[in-house]
Parts: sequence; structure tokens; C-alpha cells
Amino acid sequence: MFKELVLISAGAALLYYVFSKPKGRGRPKVTCRSSRDPNVKYEISPERQTCTCPDWKERRSSYALNDPRRFCKHLNICFENMNFQLPPALAPFEDMLQHFGLEQKGTPIGADSEIVVVEDKTRGGAETGMLAVRKNPDDDWVNVYFSSLRYGYNQDEDRWSYGNEPPYADELIQNLQIFKKRR
Ligand SMILES: [Zn+2]
Repeated sequence: MFKELVLISAGAALLYYVFSKPKGRGRPKVTCRSSRDPNVKYEISPERQTCTCPDWKERRSSYALNDPRRFCKHLNICFENMNFQLPPALAPFEDMLQHFGLEQKGTPIGADSEIVVVEDKTRGGAETGMLAVRKNPDDDWVNVYFSSLRYGYNQDEDRWSYGNEPPYADELIQNLQIFKKRR
């Protein structure tokens, strides 16, 4: 039995997860235990991208395989720390998922969200995934996640937070459905 202790320091609180992975072939299942509550124990399948936690079952199970929004925090932490290879289809989102793994967070989905893959000219045309999220249905703000960065766009005022805009800002606003939806 292979075991790995993942320590994550979040402010003053120290939280860790213990992952255990059985040896052998077949579909690896990973058990994830929380330090906060010893009764909390989830089963993760990295291959099928499933988790038995309530967040995954209630909010993420309907997303297709290889959709980054399928990843609860346990899947993100697991992939980040257990050296599981992401499938090639998720390569455009690798930096983003790694970031959420380090942050110990599930991929944001909010009330509404949309993913898009762009050719990133700053990286020789490599495909990079972007994620746009409206947290609450009546929010003017849409968050755009790109690699490990987050940008905020106020739709009502047509401005990016602090004047920081992501690559392809104009194209995103014109083409993503989430920007067309208003209150
Ligand atoms: Zn989970």
C-alpha cells in the first residue's frame, strides 16, 4: 500500500489529506482522508475522474469526462500530488488544474460557466484552456481563469477589474455565451 501525506498550510489552519493507493494493475482507486474530520473518507478514480464527495456528486457528475469542471478539490489535489498523468484532452487546462490543486480548490463553476480552448500565441500557438464563471445568477461580474491567473470583468460597466484583461479579451466577450446572458 502506497501512502502519501499532503500538507497544505492555509493561513493559521493546517489541513492535510492522506491519500492511499493500492498496488497492482487495473483501475487505480485512491482513498482520500481529511485531517479535519477523520470520518471523512472519499474514493477517487483518477481514470474515470470521479469522487464520492457531495460536491462531485451534486455539482460535477454531469460534466463530461475531460471537462475541467468535473474536478472537485479532491481530484485536483490528487492529480497535483500523486503524479497521475492528465489525459491529453485536458492538456490545455493543465496549468489551471495544477493551480487549483495547489490552492486546494475545486474548479470554479458558480451559477453559470463556460470553457473555451484558444491558441496561445505567446506560447507558440499551444492550446490553452480558459474558463469563464458567473458566481451568482444576478452578478454583473464574470471571472475569467487563464492558466494560474484570474481576471474579473464587469459586464454592466464594460470594464476589467484593475484594468487587467486576459489574452483575447475582446474575442471572449464577443463569442462566449456567458457574456451574452444578462440579468
Ligand atoms: Zn471530491
